[in-house]
Amino acid sequence: KLYNQVQDLKGSIRVYCRVRPFLSERSSYVSTVEHIEDGNITISTPSKYGKGCKSFTFNKVFGQSVTQAEVFSDMQPLIRSVLDGYNVCIFAYGQTGSGKTYTMAGPKDLTEKNQGVNYRALGDLFVLAEKRKDNFRYDVAVQMIEIYNEQVRDLLVIDGSNKRLEIHNSSQTGLNVPDASLMPVSSTSDVIDLMNLGQRNRAVGATALNDRSSRSHSCLTVHVQGKDLTSGTILRGCMHLVDLAGSERVNKSEVTGGRLKEAQHINKSLSALGDVIASLAQKNTHVPYRNSKLTQLLQDSLGGQAKTLMFVHISPEPDALAETISTLKFAERVA
Ligand code: ADP
Ligand code: MG
Repeated sequence: KLYNQVQDLKGSIRVYCRVRPFLSERSSYVSTVEHIEDGNITISTPSKYGKGCKSFTFNKVFGQSVTQAEVFSDMQPLIRSVLDGYNVCIFAYGQTGSGKTYTMAGPKDLTEKNQGVNYRALGDLFVLAEKRKDNFRYDVAVQMIEIYNEQVRDLLVIDGSNKRLEIHNSSQTGLNVPDASLMPVSSTSDVIDLMNLGQRNRAVGATALNDRSSRSHSCLTVHVQGKDLTSGTILRGCMHLVDLAGSERVNKSEVTGGRLKEAQHINKSLSALGDVIASLAQKNTHVPYRNSKLTQLLQDSLGGQAKTLMFVHISPEPDALAETISTLKFAERVA
């Protein structure tokens, strides 16, 4: 109870961390994660002065053996609040390969057991809407967009068209990208079809060397409209489920041209996101939403009554240590 009150005072910004398990081919490594307890995570940091440790504190830390179902059940109350008219943003942050897509969507060989938050969230909203059907009528629709090099693209087009979309802040309708396809959904199979379409469109433009999904942000937005059948009151809530571009720093001396431009756009938008969340957490009066497409898109779902979950992901391998520390520092700044 007290914990929740403290959260509310902080404007409902939560920070979670998840450590991915070793992938089989790398299992001979020793994990850099020394200890996890409650919201604390301790990373061992070898240095020239001998082995050291660094600890970080978040609202929750999930270790390597935590299942998709356990992660989801922790997020369930937050997700369910969209049916009560709240706006919710969930971000998956971390270096490429740290498990962002696994948490949000699931692995490539998707089964019911390893489905990620996106599927579970929608499935759960349908279940809850059905339970409330004597008192409320809910309409649920989704949009799925990608932000790549500061350009917004619709991922739910059937003809593979690649039109650039504009962001308009329209708190009236809640549709900040009015030209992106808005697809009504009422069952988990509708959702699976749309996610598959989105995944296929996201792969367009990617070459073998150039996995675009790690260099663009993808955002699944769930729009919910609920009508109170007794009073006729309409409630609107929306939830953004965001799989962010990989946060790794690229070495400027090693990349040029298009790859450098991509890296600069990612850098800029992730720091803009960090700045916005940090200034909300500190209750600053000025919140710098205008500095990136990502923060413009999410402006009316960040701050105010909205609930934000920054979910950072880390890899356990020693060769990821520098990125792991930088991810945890980013998270600490917004916590
Ligand atoms: P990212 O989206 O951050 O680049 P992925 O989600 O693609 O990373 O994860 C990289 C690899 O690790 C994938 O093969 C994925 O299936 C696997 N993986 C990530 N997290 C887990 C986990 N919690 N349990 C099992 N496998 C995972
Ligand atoms: Mg990914």
